[in-house]
Amino acid sequence: MAEKINYDWAKGFSLDFALSDGMSRNAVSTKRYLSQMKGMYHDAAAFEKVIAAGDPLVYEFYELGAPENPGDLAFGTSITYPGKIGNEYFMTKGHFHTILETAEVYYTLSGEGGMLLENPEGDTEFYPMEPGKVIYVPPRYAHRSINTGKVPMVSFFVFRGDAGHNYATIETKGYRKLVVEGDDGKPQVADNPRWR
Ligand code: ZN
Repeated sequence: MAEKINYDWAKGFSLDFALSDGMSRNAVSTKRYLSQMKGMYHDAAAFEKVIAAGDPLVYEFYELGAPENPGDLAFGTSITYPGKIGNEYFMTKGHFHTILETAEVYYTLSGEGGMLLENPEGDTEFYPMEPGKVIYVPPRYAHRSINTGKVPMVSFFVFRGDAGHNYATIETKGYRKLVVEGDDGKPQVADNPRWR
């Protein structure tokens, strides 16, 4: 396992940034397997079937441990793997920021998919992610990356150091919308029957 090094957040630093597989050098990723996402996909039977066949890695992200200060910026890479549970694409859990009024930027490096946004008032957006496209996640919006393609989708992200992550709201309530493969084989946004 790669050794984690201490970056000098006061003096700045540069680092080798392996774009093809995230920050593999000097950084350890946080991994999310399907079994850690129970209840988040709408087809519970398909979910159990895929788990039984071997719990797949759905996504992982690399971060550098930025200081949790309003003046610092946390950044890293997120990798969402290709796959589906029933007709629903592999996705990240999605989260609000603990400090709700903080934004985030995602720049897609490889792969294809989209980002599902939702605010507490129920406004939703789905923006495409593909190499060269940048997404501005505005303050107050939960955000979830969804891989609708055949290869890993890798993006670079950056947000305010003290923003924090609130996963609990999505874990308990779910998203109002979900993204599924339509009969034409193309992604479509649908109402989530399990939302409460
Ligand atoms: Zn975020």
